[in-house]
Amino acid sequence: MGRLDGKIALITGSASGIGAACVDRFLAEGARVVATDVAPQQSSSDACLTLEHDVGDEAAWQAVLHRTTERFGGIDILVNNAGISARVPGPISEIALEDWRRVIGVNLDGVFLGIKHAMRAMSGRGGAIVNMGSVHSFVAIANSAAYCASKGGVLLLSKAAALEGAAMKPPVRVNSVHPGYVATPLVDARMKQRPGMRTVIEENTPLGRLARPEEIATVVLNLVTDDGSYVTGSAVTVDGGFTAR
Ligand code: NAD
Repeated sequence: MGRLDGKIALITGSASGIGAACVDRFLAEGARVVATDVAPQQSSSDACLTLEHDVGDEAAWQAVLHRTTERFGGIDILVNNAGISARVPGPISEIALEDWRRVIGVNLDGVFLGIKHAMRAMSGRGGAIVNMGSVHSFVAIANSAAYCASKGGVLLLSKAAALEGAAMKPPVRVNSVHPGYVATPLVDARMKQRPGMRTVIEENTPLGRLARPEEIATVVLNLVTDDGSYVTGSAVTVDGGFTAR
């Protein structure tokens, strides 16, 4: 028996990295999954509906939730995973407002819109939401201010949503997951731009390595199953000890 038998889950940013690992894990646990991304994806199957979706677009959220209900009858779980970093890292004095808004628009507006529309759809039904933060929700790095600001916002947006979700009947639980550095295309691209970055990450991570996407997906899974029924408003770090120092 799967841990998500009978559950319907929507996962954003599902074409790659952590989102793709969540899709695989959720399907293996018996969920029916709506997998959304701006990037092209594999075609839909019986258990998995793939949709093109820009998380920063409110009308697109309404359309995706409509399609989810039409296909599977409702939604129990949302994983707000889609995220980007700045095109070019650089100091605040050099950030174009357009680039700032691009990062905030996906990483923070996208999470806000997902919570807003999923909570409406979960009203009277209950559910669980996980928002993807980062260790940079807690500790900053230079030259990535928009990313740090967006992920700091995800942390407290999640807690604010958890308070509202707890008052719903049945409740909607809301938590955030905060990975350290994970071997995904997002980080691979940065490591190609900056030789030596892998060594710096490994030296600053007590476990001495990057995470695998599956190691994040399994923590997301534990939060959204009924085993996590008393967990809400929590920020769960999955960072190999990065923020323990
Ligand atoms: P990734 O680049 O491998 O995957 C992100 C996916 O999001 C891509 O498929 C991309 O097409 C999609 N996406 C981008 N903009 C979108 C939009 N507007 N609408 C819908 N989809 C969009 O990255 P990843 O490393 O798997 O990151 C997933 C999440 O985890 C992000 O929120 C990221 O900030 C967070 N995170 C990653 C790391 C890491 O080290 N990889 C660490 C901490 C947090």
